[in-house]
Amino acid sequence: MRAQPNASHFVGGSYMESRSGTPFDSVYPATGETIARITPADDAVIEAAITAARKGQQVWAETPPAERGRVLRRAADILREKNRELSILETLDTGKPLQETLVADAASGADCLEYYGGLAATLTGEHIDLGGSFAYTKREPLGICFGIGAWNYPIQIACWKAAPALVCGNAMIFKPSEVTPLSALKLAEALSEAGLPDGVFNVIQGFGDVGAKMVAHPDIAKVSLTGSVPTGAKVAALAGEHLKKTTLELGGKSPLIIFDDADVENAVSAAINANFYSTGQICSNGTRVFVHTAIKERFLARLAERTANAVLGDPLDETTSIGPLVSKAQLDKVLHYLKVGQDEGARLVCGGGAAEVASFPDGYFVQPTVFADVTDTMTIAREEIFGPVLSVLDFDDEDDVVARANDTEFGLAAGVFTKDIQRAHRIIGRLQAGTCWINTYNLTPIEMPFGGYKKSGIGRENGHAAIEYYSQLKSVYVEMDGVEAAF
Ligand code: NAD
Repeated sequence: MRAQPNASHFVGGSYMESRSGTPFDSVYPATGETIARITPADDAVIEAAITAARKGQQVWAETPPAERGRVLRRAADILREKNRELSILETLDTGKPLQETLVADAASGADCLEYYGGLAATLTGEHIDLGGSFAYTKREPLGICFGIGAWNYPIQIACWKAAPALVCGNAMIFKPSEVTPLSALKLAEALSEAGLPDGVFNVIQGFGDVGAKMVAHPDIAKVSLTGSVPTGAKVAALAGEHLKKTTLELGGKSPLIIFDDADVENAVSAAINANFYSTGQICSNGTRVFVHTAIKERFLARLAERTANAVLGDPLDETTSIGPLVSKAQLDKVLHYLKVGQDEGARLVCGGGAAEVASFPDGYFVQPTVFADVTDTMTIAREEIFGPVLSVLDFDDEDDVVARANDTEFGLAAGVFTKDIQRAHRIIGRLQAGTCWINTYNLTPIEMPFGGYKKSGIGRENGHAAIEYYSQLKSVYVEMDGVEAAF
């Protein structure tokens, strides 16, 4: 077991093990080898985490914001110093190639800690003049926040939730996905080493049942989930029953619209990034690529040519550009959609099945796949696949493509490629999506709020916007004169 942590959980500043519960394995997706064995949080671990977080939060809320910021920025430096080691761990846990994890995982987590660390001392309320008397507002923490992670960007998701929560003076208990339990523990170590008081950031492990227990726990003030729409519905229902504040970052089936005046080479690059990065396991992926019929065949030819250059292989080799899917279950799901796409009449341009990779006979590899002539009603154009499957749909007319792009229950992201600046902004204004790109795709700098319209989510992460979701405003009226009463 190449990546076994000291223990399964990190509570109150130290590693902690459960005394009961059936252990589960973390598996290296390239080989199927078990790299770590983790025991889910039992009730004793949950209560220890709550107690530690309650104590930690009191200390942390009294820590001056500028000092909170320094702790987060020191943690950012630690993640950067350990980037290679953390990237290897993330590659082992997720199967994503090291070429990506070196730049996109702990590195983006560090950017996030640094950003919110910098914001810490700038968070203020306002003064409201009432003509003699006045009011002011204070931004106060919520208490203990519970973060629930998905498996595609484990340490990044942990940072995206922890950094804004902590900077506002909250404590956090974070549950990573059971599929990728390891890197959140390293974030806890880094925050602790940076000087975070014990109990302010805790990691507990487990499946959905542990998540649900925490959502319902009376001491949890807020829940932030990154996951699928069905899990989001369950978490929202339970949180609603207990009137918990909730942020949901869920799935998508996002459109990428490419007009006939677009730079085709850049548009092909964007379509590749929007579908094959992280082996297609990205929530904001532009999986419905609408291409104007005037450039469709040229676009498809270049896309096929360039997709043939993808290097599937050893994820720890930095020349590999596509790793395996995260799990056998995800492989089976993606293979199912590849079959359904062909059965429903989509034209296979390239890929279409499992990939044989020398030296990795047991890896969950799948060929990067492009379907053309996809129609709006096909299953592959309606359901989130979460794998390297790109669907090209044709269009001729602007109004028609906008209506079709919006014809989905999701609304996470959208992109448009055109050199016509007015058309670009006009279309973005009409697209029902929380995060949009013009002439690029899938860039999510920490400065830019991120989140979904419609069933893709509630609330926003990143940017100044996230502060609203991890704090509450207290309004204070100050009387500067006498108090009148009717009697
Ligand atoms: P998932 O919904 O299966 O699981 C997400 C997390 O929820 C896991 O930690 C899981 O243990 C937990 N969970 C499951 N049932 C629960 C319950 N009843 N109560 C509380 N917690 C519960 O999602 P996944 O397969 O890990 O991730 C893939 C999904 O996440 C995709 O749909 C993808 O689009 C989405 N995603 C969204 C974003 C975003 O920012 N919008 C980012 C990454 C992934």
